[in-house]
Order: sequence, then structure tokens, then C-alpha cells
Amino acid sequence: MRRRGLLIILSSPSGAGKSSLAKRLMAWDETMRFSVSATTRAPRSGEVDGRDYYFKSREGFEEMVAAGEMLEHAEVFGNLYGTPRAPVEARLAEGHDVILDIDWQGGQQVRRSVLAQDVVSVFILPPTIADLEARLRMRAQDSDEVIAGRMAKSRDEISHWGEYDYVVINRDLEISEAELRVILQAERARAVRQPGLTEFVRGLNREFEN
Ligand code: 5GP
Repeated sequence: MRRRGLLIILSSPSGAGKSSLAKRLMAWDETMRFSVSATTRAPRSGEVDGRDYYFKSREGFEEMVAAGEMLEHAEVFGNLYGTPRAPVEARLAEGHDVILDIDWQGGQQVRRSVLAQDVVSVFILPPTIADLEARLRMRAQDSDEVIAGRMAKSRDEISHWGEYDYVVINRDLEISEAELRVILQAERARAVRQPGLTEFVRGLNREFEN
């Protein structure tokens, strides 16, 4: 029997390297899937609808929430963000591990949802606040005002680190990616996550008897 996928929640203040790490994980294991969120925020240049986000009007977003189509949703920086439920459930059932790049509010909701047993949550911390701000500025897509807002939100986001199963301090992408891979491999190997084990050990016992 195929194991159910893991639901990997990655949270961090913006600029801590979470998206780069998510991309690296998916390049390492092409069976992993990224959950494309819906948002009411305007697309940044280079962002593609359906790949980076599903860009929605506030009404369109609220209709999805009312119809129970969001696994979780939250307001971040004055915009709504949410995880469409159906694709996540489908991918998990197919045995794919699914990455959710969501904030702490979403993390709390998913941990309380029916999918709680599939969740592995990882908080990514920046090595220093100066580093976090430099990375936000490097992205150079947001105005000074937006960056100041994001820095204020960062402090709040960081205060939730203790709610996560694992914490990775992202000093170096290479090393952080390796840490994430180890976390995933350990979680995949947990006995409860290997539904075929009973049958497998039955096979071993048959060999003993022959
Ligand atoms: P950005 O606007 O920089 O793409 O994302 C801003 C923040 O919103 C990030 O911290 C990101 O993790 C969070 N976010 C993105 N998608 C979702 C989502 O579907 N749900 C929640 N709760 N947060 C999200």
C-alpha cells in the first residue's frame, strides 16, 4: 500500500529564504508538489497566475471561503491568502508530499484540520535581522513602505517559532536544504507513515517458516 503524502508547512518571515528552499526541495524530489495559494494581492512582475498564486478579487476569494473550498486562510499585509483544499487532499491521497508556504496563522489552522496527522511543520529563521532586511531589499520589487511593513510583520511571525515541529536557521541555502531533506527522510520513515509494514513483516515471517 502506498503511503499517504506528508503535508509540509514551511513558515518564516518574508526574506528568510523559504521560497528558495521550497524550490530546492522540489528539484531534489520531483514527486513533491507545491500548493499554489490563492491571494487578493496584486501579482509582482514575473509572477504567473496558477503557478505562483491564483490571483483573485476579494469577492472571488470570499466566495471560495464561504463554499468551504479553503483548507486555511488568513489576512497578511492587508491581503487575503489561502490554501485551496481540493488539490492538497488529492495530491496527499495519491502519495505526493505537498509543500505549503503559509504564515503562522495558516499553520495553526492546518494543524487543527482533519489533515493534522499528515503535517510536518518547519519554521525557517534568518541568521540575523540585518540579513533579513537585506534579502527583502535585494528582491527590490517592493516599495520602502511595503518593506517597513514586512519587517514589522517579521517580528510577529518569528514569535511563533515554538509552534513548529522543526526549526532551521538559514545561514546557508545548501546546508538548510540538507537539513530539510533529513527532516523529510526521517518523517517518511516513521512507522505510522509506512502502511505496508504489516504486510512486509508478514512476508518476512513466511520466510522464517519455510
Ligand atoms: P508574499 O506576498 O510575499 O508572496 O507572501 C506573504 C506571506 O503570505 C508569506 O509569509 C507567505 O508564507 C504567506 N502566504 C502565502 N500563501 C499563503 C496561504 O495560502 N495562506 C497563508 N496563511 N499564508 C500564505
